[in-house]
Amino acid sequence: MIVTDLPPSPSLREFRNIVGEERISEIEEIAERLRGVKLQEINSTRYGGGVAEILMSYVPFLNALGLETVWSVMDAEPVFFEVTKTLHNFLQGRDGFSTSMIETYWETIKKNEGIFEEDCDVVTIHDPQPLGLIEYLTKDELDRKRLIWRCHVQLETLSTNTAEDIGNIIRKLVEKYHASIFSSFQCLPLWCVPSFIIPPFIDPISEKNRDLPQREIDATLEKYGIDPERPIVTQVSRYDVFKDPVGVIEAFRYVRRKVPCQLVLVGGRACDDPECFFVLRTVRQAAEDDPDIYVLDLPPNSHREINALQRASTIIVQKSLKEGFGLTVAEGLWKGKPVIGGNVGGIPMQVRDGWNGYLVSTIRETADRILHLLRHPDKAEEMGRRGRAYVREHFLLPRGVQDHLAVVDQLVNGKITARSSVICYHPNILTEKFAARALQY
Ligand code: UDP
Repeated sequence: MIVTDLPPSPSLREFRNIVGEERISEIEEIAERLRGVKLQEINSTRYGGGVAEILMSYVPFLNALGLETVWSVMDAEPVFFEVTKTLHNFLQGRDGFSTSMIETYWETIKKNEGIFEEDCDVVTIHDPQPLGLIEYLTKDELDRKRLIWRCHVQLETLSTNTAEDIGNIIRKLVEKYHASIFSSFQCLPLWCVPSFIIPPFIDPISEKNRDLPQREIDATLEKYGIDPERPIVTQVSRYDVFKDPVGVIEAFRYVRRKVPCQLVLVGGRACDDPECFFVLRTVRQAAEDDPDIYVLDLPPNSHREINALQRASTIIVQKSLKEGFGLTVAEGLWKGKPVIGGNVGGIPMQVRDGWNGYLVSTIRETADRILHLLRHPDKAEEMGRRGRAYVREHFLLPRGVQDHLAVVDQLVNGKITARSSVICYHPNILTEKFAARALQY
């Protein structure tokens, strides 16, 4: 299915005001070189989760640049998502995937074999769900098109026999692609495919991130009965065990014994994540009708409300146990909030410990850091200011587009542009530095 209800293409002038003339001109220069190249993005869900969030801004931006881009979503039944969620967890180090699930995977992939747009030249396939589609391209199509696999999960080194089997299947599929993109070094496997490190990004003018009038922020707090006078600690996440919402509740309870405050857990459902119902139930049980804990289950497209809740917060927490990148971290920093994030995956790339937030590994550490920032509001404010500047420099949409186009440019024209943050790695040119950082899959 091609996504047709996208926001209109943005005006590049608005972005010029935020990231500067130079960056936008550089992007326009690459776009000019790529004129006539058609792009296709493929993922498994229209709503929910970071990939949908990224594509919602990325595709209109490319179209605004004059690069025709379509976004296609796979057609799949819930049983497929049960399998791919188990696979997702498995790749992040949790057991449970069995080789018998592979059959279901391939049945759905086969059903989607017609998803490729005939006239698209460069196709980016996001995450493991649609990874196998490459098997349905003919040799001629593979010669004509350039295929990129973009991985958003934090790949873990796994050591069981099943893990080796699954790891091999995934590796062999990825090695058929012309290139792959990972969000950080922590997620980079030693596979024989040209690999690029490109951090994801947020859109500063989207409903999720644009400035909001104070009255809208106040109205959102009022709607959910949240007290604007007491500090608010917020985590925004799908209800997923790797986001550790129950750990956040425990940390909050410790803090509240010392300082009056409220916890807001903002979550919703992603149709490719069947587990969220169970996790939500566990979270509600853990919250036990505590009047200071707000467990919100918001519909998709609650972007402005989430924006308002993030802006109303004193501290943003993202206590993930595994995290490919964590857009919610960049979202919190962009809103001038200090972020306390799990020291995993792509979070350390965004949170510099003690500078724009804190990195934590345990519940107790999370509690101590929240407490410290609640007791030192000046410090929290200073961290928030630094965080916003840091995101402006590194994690906004134009930088992400520039990096991605640099990869496309390399695949299509054999050119890599100078001022992008793209780093390329290939096993044939493996250096010790890369080897130390890459995963031994
Ligand atoms: N998000 C949302 N509604 C929710 C929960 C999350 O819109 O109920 C958004 C959140 O603001 C962020 C994205 O979904 O933009 C989540 O991306 P992230 O990289 O943090 O995590 P993922 O879900 O991809 O693991």
